Amino acid sequence: MTHYTGLINNYRSRLPIADGVEAIELGEGQTPLIKLRNIPSKLGIDAEIYVKFEGLNITGSFKDRGMTMAVTAAVADGAKAIICASTGNTSAAAAAYAARAGIKAFVLIPEGKIAMGKLAQAMIHGCEIIQIEGNFDDGMRLVKEVAEHAPVTIVNSINPYRLQGQKTAAFEVVDELGDAPDYHCLPVGNAGNISGYWLGYSEYAGTSAEDSFVINHFKEMEYDRSAKGTKTPTMVGYQAAGAAPFAHGEMVDNPETVATAIRIGHPQSWDLAHAVEKESGGWFDALSDEEILAAQKLLAQSEGVFCEPASATSLAGALRDLKNGRIPQGSRIVCTLTGNGLKDPDTAMAQCSDTPITTVPATLDAVKAAIIG
Ligand SMILES: *Cc1c(COP(=O)(O)O)cnc(C)c1O
Repeated sequence: MTHYTGLINNYRSRLPIADGVEAIELGEGQTPLIKLRNIPSKLGIDAEIYVKFEGLNITGSFKDRGMTMAVTAAVADGAKAIICASTGNTSAAAAAYAARAGIKAFVLIPEGKIAMGKLAQAMIHGCEIIQIEGNFDDGMRLVKEVAEHAPVTIVNSINPYRLQGQKTAAFEVVDELGDAPDYHCLPVGNAGNISGYWLGYSEYAGTSAEDSFVINHFKEMEYDRSAKGTKTPTMVGYQAAGAAPFAHGEMVDNPETVATAIRIGHPQSWDLAHAVEKESGGWFDALSDEEILAAQKLLAQSEGVFCEPASATSLAGALRDLKNGRIPQGSRIVCTLTGNGLKDPDTAMAQCSDTPITTVPATLDAVKAAIIG
């Protein structure tokens, strides 16, 4: 039987989900690792760059990896309702997996700051949407407070099962390339994902709990951590300049960026992310909204891959650091594209206002003239 049934069943022994527990899955994971064929030569860069396109998960973002784990564990524990704060993609994933599990989901979203596709997802899956007059950070604070007074399981990335699911993306990269890349670049919001990847790479490498704050953080969970003898990459986290607490070394009270998925000023995985930076020898940096949108368009027009704005932050940063030499030429690099471009059609359309659509009469002559000129 080769029917793929999601990342829990694919990596169960390496995850804290017991054998007898039924996975609440939607075939998430096994996303394409696409090698760039045009951008490096176009920019005069000599590097092997892959994009891990997480936009092809079932709800269109990497959040499905953590959500299948969090919801499976919550249901096994008897939970009847889950709750999260979200910039959009977590709410879409929570809504979908709650529907799949037959439980309730409550999502807190920032009023007016969530991309159209994500809101549509939360609505069609039938979750309870609570729009707050505040940003993600306000929502996160409220979720933590309310969970103490109501029978709901938090499924934000502070739920340790989330990062366990997200580490499987690193497993997939290594299983496919035969080893870890030299550099792994990610967009960073709460920094759960960069921590999850590092956990996965470090487990495959066989790093001990004494040598790693990140491995040590999960030491209470039981599962197979046997080493595969692979290396670990340098982890690089990129933020939007208006929401860059890691790049600036302090929390940001009023984060702003067109990349709404990473419009976060008070990240939840602060200590884990700093451990990732130190343990991997990596760094954090920030990019302007213009640089982010330019990378999104470049990727769409040069490679045929349409990711959402926040996702393009990883590639924008990698290309900039390749040009300035911080990432050496000749490196093998993986950039995670966290979400699908279809989530945010408004930003994509606004970016293309300089390419108007030509309207012609429905005649052969008119269409011919439009093509040949
Ligand atoms: C959630 C999200 C991020 C940020 O991930 P963190 O784990 O919060 O750092 C980046 N891009 C997209 C599309 C997301 O949905």
